[in-house]
Amino acid sequence: MTRARQPARRPRDPRTVAVLFDIDGTLLDMRGAGRRSFVRTLERVFGWKDDIAYVNFAGNTDLNVLLQVARKHRRRLGPSDLRRFFARLPVELRQTAAETRLRIYPGVRRLLQRLSADPRVVLGLVTGNVEASARVKLEQFDLHNHFVLGAFGDDHADRARIARLALRRVRRHVGRGCRVGDCFLIGDTPLDISAAHRIGATAVAVATGKFSVADLRAAGADHVLSNLSRTAAVLRVLGLSGAVARDLRAGVAALRPPRPDETDGGGARPPGARRGQVVRRACRDGPRHQDGPLPPVHSNVNMRIPSAPRLC
Ligand SMILES: [Mg+2]
Repeated sequence: MTRARQPARRPRDPRTVAVLFDIDGTLLDMRGAGRRSFVRTLERVFGWKDDIAYVNFAGNTDLNVLLQVARKHRRRLGPSDLRRFFARLPVELRQTAAETRLRIYPGVRRLLQRLSADPRVVLGLVTGNVEASARVKLEQFDLHNHFVLGAFGDDHADRARIARLALRRVRRHVGRGCRVGDCFLIGDTPLDISAAHRIGATAVAVATGKFSVADLRAAGADHVLSNLSRTAAVLRVLGLSGAVARDLRAGVAALRPPRPDETDGGGARPPGARRGQVVRRACRDGPRHQDGPLPPVHSNVNMRIPSAPRLC
């Protein structure tokens, strides 16, 4: 996700694959730290004591949440208000994260290692977090260096617009002579799915967040996975289970032993099974709810945070 880490251009397959990840509910679980940091920042910056229990964060964007809260408080926020709030939010987030037992989902670290080492792949982020907050979250598990670009909640309040911006940055990153053969957007909410389809990407949904496999299927995901623990199955969905992936397997496996939180769900595609069957097999856990399905959040706010840093 950082310019600093962005490597020198490496030889790429002319058919580059863009894999764009959501963060919350897809890669990791902040266990309420994000919401608590929002509450603290509202009080510190605006003096509002508000538990924002009425806000649905699933698939939402930081900017959209702030505007929703401001409407409730009948405040019209100006550019300086936005700047002050989003300068403070990552500071509070780092503090609340330190106070919280966070969780990375099974298989995430291994999958990101595989993808970021694959010369065919451009690995990016599409998240409603402002970039500084995204970095804080990924740093909790040392995941931030896997991403070479992204689009964030300080780019736009609408997730589909954020996704479109990310794809534009992928194309810019790939450069002339290469083309983006496939673009996959991996997320945990119906808003991720609709954002993927709005930009012509393949929507890969993962049921590790608030939405079940059944919810995500009903929302129109092209592929649904119960989680990301089965690296081989995810790579097949992404069309990356070819020779390069095999060559990378040994090298990545040698980086470090698997961690207890990354135990593979096990199981391989049955002989003769079609690609679609892999996905269904990966979803054999069936529908799953944590707090029950939440209603989608719709945003038609067309607004950017003024003077947002241009980072990717
Ligand atoms: Mg999410």
